[in-house]
Parts: sequence; C-alpha cells; structure tokens
Amino acid sequence: MLIQSTVIGKIDKVQKAIDRIKAFEPRDGSGYFLAFSGGKDSQCVYHLTKMAGVKFDAHYTVTSVDPPEVMRFIKTQYPDVQWDYPVDQFGKRTCMWKLIKELGFPPTRHRRYCCDILKESCGEGRVTLTGVRWAESSKRRDINGVANIKTTSSDLINQQLEDNPAAAVNKLGSLILLDDNDESRRMVEHCFRVKRTTVNPIIDWEEDDVWEFLLDVAKVPYCSLYDHGFTRVGCIGCPLQHGNGMIHDFEYWPRYRQLYVDTFDQVLQNSPSGYMAQFNTGEEVLTDWIRRSFKDDEWAAENNEPYSPGNDKEQNPPQYMMDIIYGTE
Ligand code: SF4
Repeated sequence: MLIQSTVIGKIDKVQKAIDRIKAFEPRDGSGYFLAFSGGKDSQCVYHLTKMAGVKFDAHYTVTSVDPPEVMRFIKTQYPDVQWDYPVDQFGKRTCMWKLIKELGFPPTRHRRYCCDILKESCGEGRVTLTGVRWAESSKRRDINGVANIKTTSSDLINQQLEDNPAAAVNKLGSLILLDDNDESRRMVEHCFRVKRTTVNPIIDWEEDDVWEFLLDVAKVPYCSLYDHGFTRVGCIGCPLQHGNGMIHDFEYWPRYRQLYVDTFDQVLQNSPSGYMAQFNTGEEVLTDWIRRSFKDDEWAAENNEPYSPGNDKEQNPPQYMMDIIYGTE
C-alpha cells in the first residue's frame, strides 16, 4: 500500500520517494541521469521524478539482449528517453555477442562482465537515479541503500560511519546511506563527480506499491510482457535469474536462443581454451550454461545426481577457469 499506517502515523510512500528525489538533486544544475530500462520499476522512478519537478535526462542502454517488446514499448511510450549504445575501451560499439566472443565464455552469476560493460558504464560522473528495490532480492537488500556511493576509501567510510547515523557499509565494502538526512545529502553532493553515486528513491517499495502507483497514480501503460507471465523484464537469457527463467526466455524468444548458440559455436571454432574447451557444440555450451544457473541442490533434486561443476565431463576445466567462472579467486 502506498499509504502505510505505522506507529509514528501514516507514511505516504509516493511523497517520501519524491522528497528523496528532491533531496539528492545535484546542486550544480547538471540534473539526474535516470537509468531507464522500460521495466515497471524504472517507469515509477521516471514518473516520480517528473512529479518532483527536478531536472533529469532519462537513458535506456541498448544491451542487444533486451526483449524486442521492451524496446518497442520505450520507443512508443517514452520517446524522450535517450538511447545509449555501450562502447568498449577503444570507443567502439559493443554488445553481448561481441563480449562473449572476446572473453571466450558466457557471463555467469559470479562473472557478470556484461553488466559492467553493457549497463553500468553509462552515466559516469552523474548522480544516477535507479528503480532498485529491496523487495526484489535479499542480495539487493544487502548492497543498496537510499543512496549508494561506490567507494572503498576507508577514510571516507570511517568519517561517514562516525558522523552519519544513516551510513553503513555494504557486503562489497562500499558506502550506503539508509536515509536522506542532512549528512547523507552533503555526502552525495560532495562525492558525485568522483565516485559512482546512485540514488534509489523507491528502495523500500513492494511489488504491490509499484503496480498501485503505475495503475492508480501515474495511470500509464506498461510493457505487454507483464501480461504474458513475466514478473521482470530484463536481458534475454540473463544468468542472474534462476535457470528456469533462462529456459523460459529461450522458449519465448527462440531466435535469441539461436544467437547464443551461434555465438558459442563461433567461440568453439576459434581455439577455445579453459572452460569452453570441454564442449563440441554451442548447444552443449548453452545446456551447461543454463544448468549452472540452477542452485546446486535444485539441480541434484531434479536430476537425481549430485551437482559438481564439471563432474559430468571426462575432463574438468582447469582450476584457473573455474576460478573465473565461479569467482573464487
Ligand atoms: S544479461 Fe544479466 S548480467 Fe548481463 S547485462 Fe543483462 S542483466 Fe546484467
């Protein structure tokens, strides 16, 4: 419910989100960089930011694996959103297929290189508004606050922990601000040019709040995929979702499935090393990639065999590649 009854009285979540957006607005006039994905959460942030009356420009980053339905929705319903095309370190356009070929293996939960390059490289030096919510996953709760300042500077962190009751350190060792008090505002203002700073105005919204806002407050259309059983709209085949989500994606968008298989085949034709060297075809890679997205115990339960990375192959991948895949180094 957007209006919440608490022991300290009623809380209006819409007003609270608007107040947060106003509180952290960059004071130098540059405005917010609003990260817009076409999903329901970023829609909420877009409309809340309009209601707040602050300066912002909204950006959609073209990952190359976003559902065509989402891209069409953004084009038609949000024509003012700018389309950003990710580039590599040489300034050349890049995309998921190119990254897989260059790195020689698909992204995994622990090695989500595509997110770093395709999604998080945009908006550098700006205060970024996002639609991140705690309710989406326990991991998100562990690493996000009302504002995040990406830093490992112990001086900065210690000073904030001392002066700001709303400051905390997340699991990654970076600074998060759990409230928009004066000290948090000063901190964001001080840091945003040099550190990566994000503001998450709907961090404490539930799924129901999002739908209530879109349908009853903003009264706007939403992407058609939500009417087709999707609870999230994101990259097709994203390994961060559960393996069942990957399977569902590939059934729903078979052409994208084929693109992944073709890309894996191209890697295999080009002297694959490490993890990829154990496969003969792109289909085999795809199967193993999905399998790894299931949690170990679920895999065991469904397949009646203990899951151990690589144990069903004659030859395990070398340790250094397992470290890359599983991020254990
Ligand atoms: S596929 Fe998943 S990990 Fe990769 S860019 Fe998309 S959301 Fe990030």
